[in-house]
Amino acid sequence: MTMINGFSAADAERLSEKERSLIARRERLLGPAYRLFYERPLHAVRGEGVWLYDAQGRRYLDAYNNVASIGHCHPRVVQAIASQAAVLNTHTRYLQEGILDYAEQLLATFPAGLEQVMFTCTGSEANDLALRIARHYTGGTGVIITRFAYHGVTGDISALSPSLGASIQLPGHARCVHAPDVYRLGPEAGKLFAEDVRAAIADLRAHGIKPAALLIDGIFASDGIFAGPEGCIAEAVAIAQSEGLLYIADEVQCGFARTGSHMWGFQRHGVQPDLVSLGKPMGNGQPIAGVVARPEVLEPFGRSMRYFNTFGGNPVSCAAGQAVLDVIRDEGLQQRSAQIGDYLLAGIRQLSQRHDLIGDVRGAGMFIGVELVSDRASKAPAAEQAKRVVNGMRERGVLISAAGPLENILKIRPLLAFEQSHADLLITALDEALQALA
Ligand code: PMP
Repeated sequence: MTMINGFSAADAERLSEKERSLIARRERLLGPAYRLFYERPLHAVRGEGVWLYDAQGRRYLDAYNNVASIGHCHPRVVQAIASQAAVLNTHTRYLQEGILDYAEQLLATFPAGLEQVMFTCTGSEANDLALRIARHYTGGTGVIITRFAYHGVTGDISALSPSLGASIQLPGHARCVHAPDVYRLGPEAGKLFAEDVRAAIADLRAHGIKPAALLIDGIFASDGIFAGPEGCIAEAVAIAQSEGLLYIADEVQCGFARTGSHMWGFQRHGVQPDLVSLGKPMGNGQPIAGVVARPEVLEPFGRSMRYFNTFGGNPVSCAAGQAVLDVIRDEGLQQRSAQIGDYLLAGIRQLSQRHDLIGDVRGAGMFIGVELVSDRASKAPAAEQAKRVVNGMRERGVLISAAGPLENILKIRPLLAFEQSHADLLITALDEALQALA
């Protein structure tokens, strides 16, 4: 069968001339490593609030993008970027107040103890830096991650991201543990997670490797979106910290009010990280990311080497970051994330009464996973159906994706700017897309 960039001939026939030529140009110019979403890729030309618009002017409800989290092209962020860019944009080697004001306000959203921040441009860089700091502090190299983790693209961090593909060779200093999958492991999932972490620490030591860090995404997004119950990672974190490892909370996915009840995902679990990596929604599209740290953890690293990141923490990025914090506060987006998130969860749970394909509905705030199974008793993953639902919703004008090792878990991550009417649209589209499979 003829394929265009992984699309079947049937899909390709539905593509316009323009779309075909864009796909061909992409392949020619960007090479083979990039992937497009959807069988019929979206040619996005404009974003506004919760909507993305395609080249034909058709609008799509964005229930996927966790970068433009407070709304596409939010006017306050646009204004902040433009104003600062018109005045000064340099780097962190001059005295400037903007970066300090922003750092102060950002740190004020963290629990006491997490009192310093270093800026990067991407979440990958943040994790890479956090790992370097952890290794420096502990004198160890060993890292514990989850089995289908994603933490980023640098050399060290991509090697700790098994979800990138089977060709990722886990380094000798890494150990994988199962994420706390309550759906499959039951109420003991947190306990099993803790036992796994304990065993991983012992195994590293048995191989002469000193463990440095437990690096986990607080909502286990790539593992399959395991949001709860609250506190389920606490025992594992306590074991790691009492064994001398640092706990790096990867908040790139679950930070900035995404999980509703708190500003930071780790807070749902009542744990205290040693290092926190931030990214994605931090600048609503302007590249800004960072590592928040306990000062005593940062101290030996900073003493022994300098840190300079050419673009990290530049005035324009800090202005965007500041605007994001202001909007989350002024528009009550954390509360909205909790309320609309609960409304969505309840609505999707109702759908599960009519659609046997839905095995589990889970989430926190505006991060929801809907696990599709072909048989509720055996919980056999329904990957092909998930793909059809994702594409079916795209055809109905709602953007979502799929997660987990088999991609049978619908990944629903609406913009925090969602209102109830948007949630209703999403639920209707999901209902219809599931109905179309029956
Ligand atoms: N950590 C997690 C949990 C992520 O989901 C991502 C990005 N998907 C990253 C880190 C890396 O962030 P970036 O793409 O900004 O480098």
